[in-house]
Amino acid sequence: AVDIQGVRKSFGDVVALDGVELSVADGENVAILGPSGSGKSTLLRVIAGLEPADGGEILIDGAPQRDVPPHRRDVAIVFQHFALYPHLTARSNITLGLRHGLGLSKAEAESRAVELATRMQVEHLLDRKPREMSGGQRQRIALARALARRSGVVLLDEPLSGLDAQLHAVLRLEIASMLRAAGATGINVTHDQLDAMAMADRIAVIHNGRLEQVGTPDELYARPATLFVAGFIGSPP
Ligand code: ATP
Ligand code: MG
Repeated sequence: AVDIQGVRKSFGDVVALDGVELSVADGENVAILGPSGSGKSTLLRVIAGLEPADGGEILIDGAPQRDVPPHRRDVAIVFQHFALYPHLTARSNITLGLRHGLGLSKAEAESRAVELATRMQVEHLLDRKPREMSGGQRQRIALARALARRSGVVLLDEPLSGLDAQLHAVLRLEIASMLRAAGATGINVTHDQLDAMAMADRIAVIHNGRLEQVGTPDELYARPATLFVAGFIGSPP
């Protein structure tokens, strides 16, 4: 479970997160839905420990994370601009952290890499380097790398951006079902209300660093709490 308690973060005059409160249960998949600049990536970075919060607390399975460095958190993250190592093949990008971070054997790491790459439909690209792949292919390698960790918490920042419509629809279901099958707690960021509706158990709508409403897709659609939520979800007036 992930508990986000009163998290605040500013960059100079810009308030990126303004007292965010959200509890995500074990095995739950929550979408953070909001427009560009609303604080979505900042929130994931704070949860992963890559950005210190100015205030508030992140708890993972009840344990405060304030003094836990990123590599010791039970968290995998796919960045919005999927940070793959440019000099390594896709295979090594996936296996590096499994071997050195998680301590898996070479054989076990390789077999996970093949398994996840197959599910992401990029197994034929495992020996290529990132610059030899398209953006959507790199995105899927980054997803395979994160999901191969089998972390308790998986953070996805716009995991479907840059994919064509068909892959988008297929991987949307594939990611949601993999998170579910793994029993992982998922927090995925999107600005696409259809992705949020299709993938998430609950949706948290963020606007100017504040959560405007948290609820199931049906609740948000039927009973939007604010005009902003209504407009963003596309519920009828
Ligand atoms: P997008 O959908 O465009 O990715 P986002 O919701 O992920 O947007 P954030 O990246 O979290 O938005 O940014 C929230 C606010 O904080 C924005 O106003 C952004 O300009 C600002 N911001 C984010 N990171 C930094 C930084 N390192 N330095 C200064 N300002 C930042
Ligand atoms: Mg972002």
